[in-house]
Amino acid sequence: MLDLKSLDLLREAAARLDQGFAHLPVFDADADMDALRTVLMDAAERMRDNYPYPHPLYAGQMLKPPHAVARLAYMLALYFNPNNHALDGGRASSAMEKEAVAQIAAMFGWTTHLGHLTSGGTVANLEALWIAGRVAPGKTILASAQAHYTHSRISDVLGIPFEPIPTDARAKMDMNALEDRLKRGGVGAVVATMGTTAVGAVDPLGDILTLRDKYGFRVHADAAYGGYFTLADNLGAETRAAFDRLIDADSIAIDPHKHGLQPYGCGCILFRDPAVGRYYNHDSPYTYFTSDELHLGEISLECSRAGAAAVALWTTMRLYPLARGGAFAAMLSRCRAAACRLYGKLQADSRFLVGIAPELDIIYFAPKRESASAVDAASRALFAAAAEHDLHLALATLPVELLRPHWDIVWDAPKTAVLRSVLMKPEHLDWIDSIYAVLDKLA
Ligand SMILES: *Cc1c(COP(=O)(O)O)cnc(C)c1O
Repeated sequence: MLDLKSLDLLREAAARLDQGFAHLPVFDADADMDALRTVLMDAAERMRDNYPYPHPLYAGQMLKPPHAVARLAYMLALYFNPNNHALDGGRASSAMEKEAVAQIAAMFGWTTHLGHLTSGGTVANLEALWIAGRVAPGKTILASAQAHYTHSRISDVLGIPFEPIPTDARAKMDMNALEDRLKRGGVGAVVATMGTTAVGAVDPLGDILTLRDKYGFRVHADAAYGGYFTLADNLGAETRAAFDRLIDADSIAIDPHKHGLQPYGCGCILFRDPAVGRYYNHDSPYTYFTSDELHLGEISLECSRAGAAAVALWTTMRLYPLARGGAFAAMLSRCRAAACRLYGKLQADSRFLVGIAPELDIIYFAPKRESASAVDAASRALFAAAAEHDLHLALATLPVELLRPHWDIVWDAPKTAVLRSVLMKPEHLDWIDSIYAVLDKLA
């Protein structure tokens, strides 16, 4: 299952890197191989206690194996373990981070920006909400009831009032409810989720921006999960229209460690206006925030950050530029195609209940039963039975409000477990028939 061939390239690349320091007095950094072997084999044994995340029959939670190029570049950089806090701790990798982040900003149509990598989407969103709080002190932050739970917690940490806005039958922020709330005033920022973590629903960003013109507030796009889908060529018209408005958001959070082929520890925050750099307690002139001299630690809440993450991302984007019509874009399109294909098969099968048609690559479904409590039990049973057949799905507990508009069953419980499948490997498209074959057999 694991790619071991490419490890030879790591040796070759590390030797190339080493040559750059060949003039130094000899310093032998060889390891004690026997001692290493013993503990590494222990680790390999321990790691066998996992679902097979890299395999396409793992079609459960939001987990995607990093691409070989990211793994190798990360391991290469680890020999130096640069720290992208400051230029002297991570010279090459800080420059690579700036280039990589600029390419992500360009993907959204931004020619200028302020941004950097973070340890993940949580900190990326934290920085966006922190800036929102600095720009409009004391004002409320709104996000949909289906937004990532991190937004209410972050607001709590920052001491900023937070209110959820109900969602409609398709798990998108309800625009009438949003406008009703805006009329009451005191709103500093609205978070638009560009792909909810639960079902991949995309908030109507265009409508939110129209309300911004009327009521005046910041718009932060949480594209941690969905951001890269802007490159896909097979989105529905409404989803496409929402992604095309990202250029007008005030800030965007995106996770290269979700759909950007990176190992964990790689999120990204982008601000459209570089001048927000002044809120990071910095007294340098405005132009400094876009200069090559900028130490990334000066515009980041986190101090030490993995330079290796920047090297991995930069190298991955050399191989897979963020271009529409390119090979990376095709991977995103395949993920969505996989979700649509499995959704279609389940929808046509009277033994299953399906949810909203997938906007991105997440689907949820359940065995058909009379009541919510029976659906809950049947979902849990199918989850366990599928795992015995080496098909690994996930369980998600969804509120009745999301399911009731779609399922004509007895609602005897306020929420119910359903099966959830995040089809985020490009290979999933080739495995839909095998995945469905297991479900067919067990249904
Ligand atoms: C994953 C996710 C987050 C949190 O990001 P982490 O990288 O897990 O810290 C926030 N928002 C959305 C929409 C997400 O999908």
